[in-house]
Order: sequence, then C-alpha cells, then structure tokens
Amino acid sequence: MEAPHHEAPAVTLKITVNSPEQMGELGRRLAKLLRPGDLVMLTGELGAGKTTLTRGLGEGLGVRGAVTSPTFVIARVHPPLAEGPSLVHVDAYRLGGGLDEMEDLDLDVSLPESVVVVEWGDGKVEELSDDRLRVVIDRAVGEASGDAPDGAADEVRDVTITGLGGRWADADLASLSA
Ligand code: ADP
Ligand code: MG
Repeated sequence: MEAPHHEAPAVTLKITVNSPEQMGELGRRLAKLLRPGDLVMLTGELGAGKTTLTRGLGEGLGVRGAVTSPTFVIARVHPPLAEGPSLVHVDAYRLGGGLDEMEDLDLDVSLPESVVVVEWGDGKVEELSDDRLRVVIDRAVGEASGDAPDGAADEVRDVTITGLGGRWADADLASLSA
C-alpha cells in the first residue's frame, strides 16, 4: 500500500506485552513521549487492554481521577494534578457515526491543549489530526503465547505502535520497549 505524497512515512514498533502490569508500564512510558495536541488511537477487541494502557498513560501524565471503562459516559476529561496536559479519554464504542456524532464533545477544541486517547476510534476520529499514534493490541496466538507458563498465555498481547505524520517522524518510539 502506497502512502499519499503529503504524508510523512509511518514509524512502527512492535512489542510483546506479557501482563496487565506490563501494559500499564507501557502506558507510563508512552506518557513521557506525549505532549499537548497528541491524538492516540487504540484498536483491539473487547478486553484487549486498551483501557489498561490508558490507565498507565494517565498515571504517567499525572492526571486526576481513575481511568475506567465508561458505561454511559463517552468521554472523560482528566485534568493534570500539576503541570502538563489534560487527558481526554474517549470510548467511541457506542458511537456509530464519525466526528459529526461527537460534535458535542468538542474534541477539536480540546485537542490542542490535551492528550486525546480514543478507544474504538477507527473510521471516526481521523479527521481530527493527520498526526496520530495508532496502537493496535492483539491477543497473541501461536508461538508467543505457547511459550508462556501455564495460565499466563491468556495475558500475552502483541502491540503494534505506528506513528503517522510528521509529529512522529523523529519520535523515540524505541524508548517504549526499553
Ligand atoms: P479494553 O479496554 O481493550 O476492552 P481492558 O483494559 O478494559 O480492555 O481490559 C483488559 C482485561 O484483560 C483486564 O481485565 C486485564 O486485567 C486483562 N489482561 C490480561 N492480560 C493483559 C495484558 N497483557 N494487557 C492488558 N490487559 C490484560
Ligand atoms: Mg476499554
């Protein structure tokens, strides 16, 4: 697949995450790379670990309030406890349409001064920014999980992180797997 000429080439990192704790740690590391205006899209089936990753991210950013899976709320704003951006955590699962349906959230207004993390945002929030960090979480199957100790195989996740656009061209994604 060829990228359109106006887009910077994508930067990709693949990581194996073996437990919810490691997923949280990945979130805390990711927080160090993030700055206001960053859009992070989380993709993966129910129970993949999107919210667990976001929780670590919130800890790393040092924001107020517990990051949870919202039952009715679509978006929650977590203000910074000290310095830094707010975390806007969106779960777009129940939203059929795109940004039009999310207009009330004013994500375009909050994005410049916040880190916006969207679960289930594929095909819905791309318009917000050409610069996006796309995180795809898959349950590991086959070899990787087969090597894990009994009972731990269920916890193995393959995480693919792709930086789209100029914002991510020089980002130190390798620091995430350190
Ligand atoms: P999602 O938001 O993708 O639906 P959650 O983060 O809410 O997923 O839930 C993930 C569930 O899977 C949690 O119960 C968590 O403890 C469990 N889990 C097991 N292994 C992992 C892992 N490696 N990373 C994240 N969560 C994991
Ligand atoms: Mg979730």
